[in-house]
Amino acid sequence: MDALIFAHATILTMNSDRVIIEDGAILVTDDRIGAIGKTAELVEANPQEQQIDLSGHIVLPGLIDAHVHTAQCMLRGVSEGKRLADFSNWLFGRIFPLQGSYTEEDARASASLCILEMIKSGTTGFVECLLAERYGFDGIAQLCVDSGIRAALGKVVMDVSPETRDRLGWHHGMWQTRESSIEGTIAAHDAWDGRGDGRLQVWFGCRSAEPANDPSLFDEVSALARDRGMGITIHLAELAHDNQYARAQGYRSHVEFAHGHGLLGPRTVLAHCTIADEQDIALLAKTGTSVAHNPGNNAAAAWGPAPIADMLDAGVNVAIGCDGAPSNANMDVLRDLRIACHTARMRTGTRLALGPEAALEMATINGARALGIGADAGSLEVGKKADFISINTDAAHLQPVWNPVATAVFAAQGGDVDTVVINGQVIMRKREVLTMNEDEILEDVRGRFRDVASRAGVDGLTPEWPIV
Ligand SMILES: [Zn+2]
Repeated sequence: MDALIFAHATILTMNSDRVIIEDGAILVTDDRIGAIGKTAELVEANPQEQQIDLSGHIVLPGLIDAHVHTAQCMLRGVSEGKRLADFSNWLFGRIFPLQGSYTEEDARASASLCILEMIKSGTTGFVECLLAERYGFDGIAQLCVDSGIRAALGKVVMDVSPETRDRLGWHHGMWQTRESSIEGTIAAHDAWDGRGDGRLQVWFGCRSAEPANDPSLFDEVSALARDRGMGITIHLAELAHDNQYARAQGYRSHVEFAHGHGLLGPRTVLAHCTIADEQDIALLAKTGTSVAHNPGNNAAAAWGPAPIADMLDAGVNVAIGCDGAPSNANMDVLRDLRIACHTARMRTGTRLALGPEAALEMATINGARALGIGADAGSLEVGKKADFISINTDAAHLQPVWNPVATAVFAAQGGDVDTVVINGQVIMRKREVLTMNEDEILEDVRGRFRDVASRAGVDGLTPEWPIV
């Protein structure tokens, strides 16, 4: 039996009493937490076990990022330069042509970069929302297995007719038929779900409920998901036009449209929900649907903050998502927790709106529930999976530590994460990722990102200012 003690840390257990242990220790036995408590007592009871000294570190459950586009990490920064005000122009004129020109190697390079950044920022599990056929599902699933991270990979399903695709100017490289996208997702589920010692899940990654998609797709997907016990993720209730679309379909709102087509429930993660109103929020709570809040994207894209405080008050399971790098730049959950608090306070006009405690719950307990692993992760308790991270507070921007919860949420950033343990395996130690080759990944991305733009024929990606 492999056992290891992580000792002398301040531990935010996130257990039901939210106990914080000073000079605490965790005994990891195989993939689970064998014991947790005061270092002195735990070491005395297990004198033979090897120790890792985490003096001066804050230890907390691994962070869950509930809304990620792995293919977009190689597009970090492309929304600036020649900025596009209109969302459709941004999506169809810039992002889709770039992603639609990816080879499988490009997509894997971007996903490698994304997973590396997530691990280095303390993310131990994530939901990929839209994994397109052209990215090569097997390669990316293998990457997740090899890196040691947990993932729910939402494989794209869509039903967009060729006429609609051409009318919208939708890049052909991003298009799949209904039949092939559903069959491909089911085949991927059969081949990969549960792999990596249970770390990998395969979900339906529905393209948005919008005029491009035939609504009957959602009935078929939700029935299949129920039959097979699969998760569903979809962008929903993002902007005002979503409600206009739902009304044209005979529903009061986009959230009610989703409910009408069977999409809501405890195995569904809705990204954004920026425009959800009181009735929508009550429905999300009643159905046990999870929401991935994307505060960094909402701010950068000028969408405004989502009604997160209202959702939490109503009992909605709200998780956090960094979304795509073109809008939000970084896959840094700690940074987005801070933006979530700040923007919730701006929306409500009170600093009581969202505290660091509720924010940290979003990234841990709530995130684990969204990922469907609430019984096994999200808090540090005996018998749960050993998924945790440490933040090294030996830094000018983190001292002094009056309140470790506030330090983690308001002062720390991804780059302060020192140690990452997932499923009992040390994935990062002293900021060195042990399961991935960082130099090779960065070199690969640097060598290919401009080729994608020239292949796609997209310009306007350079700075506004002259380059000499
Ligand atoms: Zn998104």
